[in-house]
Amino acid sequence: MAINIVLLGPPGAGKGTQAKRLEARYGLVQLSTGDMLRAAVAAGTATGLRAKAVMEAGKLVDDEILIAMISDRLGQADARRGAIFDGFPRTVPQAEALDRLLVSMGRRVDHVIELQVDEAALVERISGRFTCKSCGAGYHDRFQPPRVAGICDACGASEFVRRADDNADTVRRRLAEYHAKTAPILPYYRARGRLRGVDGMADMDRVTAELEAVVGSLPPGAA
Ligand code: AMP
Repeated sequence: MAINIVLLGPPGAGKGTQAKRLEARYGLVQLSTGDMLRAAVAAGTATGLRAKAVMEAGKLVDDEILIAMISDRLGQADARRGAIFDGFPRTVPQAEALDRLLVSMGRRVDHVIELQVDEAALVERISGRFTCKSCGAGYHDRFQPPRVAGICDACGASEFVRRADDNADTVRRRLAEYHAKTAPILPYYRARGRLRGVDGMADMDRVTAELEAVVGSLPPGAA
């Protein structure tokens, strides 16, 4: 049986970082719709062309595009054991579509975990972040600089990238979108008894430990 985990929380709550850790721990695949859209923009696909300006404005891309993207992705072999949804669902129609999709595959959303954060800290958290261009390792100007300035700890490369939408103005718009369109998902899952909260302001290892306590101690492959 597969496990499917949804990580919720505003931009900058740590969903991507924690999803990567859970991916390694449980042998699940991280499905980051933001990463998928950025790849589509970089590749210049029809979806990428439609999404680019919307993403740069800090708005949400149409549900129909996202649902089709997740539906395709869940059909791929590496998602067979289950997935960690990072950045999806972001609207109630997306949450409903995900439930329908998983049910049609004989699966369900097993855990919905909200990373609870102090929003005043988010603009600084997000606007200082950057990643290694070669291996994708994540850093932060203040909270997690590379050990040697300008060199990636993980792979030794010296080129880094910052997301176009990680500037302070766009981050504020992304937070407004979160409140208007994504926060209504919380009562949707709460009403189904599936929502748990974890303190996303604790240090990264502590957040991971709390997530693992919620998900349980299934070894990879036992799910
Ligand atoms: P993220 O990397 O999750 O912060 O997503 C970056 C941007 O991609 C968002 O600000 C949206 O413009 C778009 N995006 C990602 N996931 C979704 C989604 N599930 N629904 C709508 N737009 C999305």
